Amino acid sequence: MFFASDNAGPAHPKVLEALTIANTGYASGYGADAIMDEVRDGIRTVFEAPRAEAFLVTTGTAANSLILATMSKPWQTVFCSDVAHIHEDECNAPEFFSGGSKLTLVPSPSAKLTPDALRSAILGEENRGVHGPQRGPVSITQATEKGTIYSLEELTAVTAVAKDFGLKTHLDGARFANALVRLGCTPAEMTWKAGIDAVSFGGTKNGLLGVEAVVLFDPETAWEFELRRKRGAHLLSKHRYLSAQMRAYLADDLWLDMARMANARTDRLVAGLRNTSGIEFLFEPEANIIFFSATRGLHRKLHDGGAVYYIMSGELDGDDPEEMLTGRLVCDWSMTEDGVDEFLALFDR
Ligand SMILES: *Cc1c(COP(=O)(O)O)cnc(C)c1O
Repeated sequence: MFFASDNAGPAHPKVLEALTIANTGYASGYGADAIMDEVRDGIRTVFEAPRAEAFLVTTGTAANSLILATMSKPWQTVFCSDVAHIHEDECNAPEFFSGGSKLTLVPSPSAKLTPDALRSAILGEENRGVHGPQRGPVSITQATEKGTIYSLEELTAVTAVAKDFGLKTHLDGARFANALVRLGCTPAEMTWKAGIDAVSFGGTKNGLLGVEAVVLFDPETAWEFELRRKRGAHLLSKHRYLSAQMRAYLADDLWLDMARMANARTDRLVAGLRNTSGIEFLFEPEANIIFFSATRGLHRKLHDGGAVYYIMSGELDGDDPEEMLTGRLVCDWSMTEDGVDEFLALFDR
């Protein structure tokens, strides 16, 4: 009953096997390994983008920050949702790696940027001449931090606003696969065909030990990214072990299978919760994350029963048992039906 995060589960055994297989003989370092050549080809195939460049880093924060640094100048501002991971959970790494680009927060109901809100945020910047921030890239998270998903139409409408102003677009895809299998579209449709210029292609939360791919659809930006990755201390020397993870991820669609498993367990959980009284969903649970409100008393009962998940607002140990608190449940690929059912059974105790 471990629903705290999708980084809490194990890596897939096939990934560990792939590491063992890669762990023989010699391979050039710093991304010059032969496995990385396969990964690059694999990513180009998956994204139907023969000219795309791909790089591997070990955290999503590095992927996001280094991409945004490559896309912006220090005097620019990055437009993002007011609940974006780059704003709330990266300790100002995007500002640090970019050498000072700031973030302009766009009010985002359901954690999704809307074309109107984005347009007014963009219009609100770069109108104070030399004194204010200049307009920079737009960063979009798919699936969002609240477990919602942009439809392809919504995504395209948002990137269209960015294009109106000549701004580049970044997709934070820490949960790229969860969104993709839900939409049932192709990676190309969810990225460059929808106006996305660069992607942080998540792996860690979906079954790897620790790899995220950076996918740049504009190869002109690749060299700068390469330099920034090295300077940012994210170019791994024994790189083949990152490559091996990503190759295993893409092989036989393991990445899609794992996302389908995570989403299916979430669906089971959602269906069960809909039959329970006393809880309310705060966002439509479309990916593998559920935000719900319930009384402190109920949260306590669930925790006391052995469920593990975060309380996102308020303290579990407060006094008033009737106070409403927000909880967050996340399923990863390894969550079992039994784990879900055991959790749901706690409600009937
Ligand atoms: C987890 C996550 C990341 C990456 O986080 P790291 O801890 O740096 O790997 C990025 N974006 C979103 C939306 C996330 O949930």
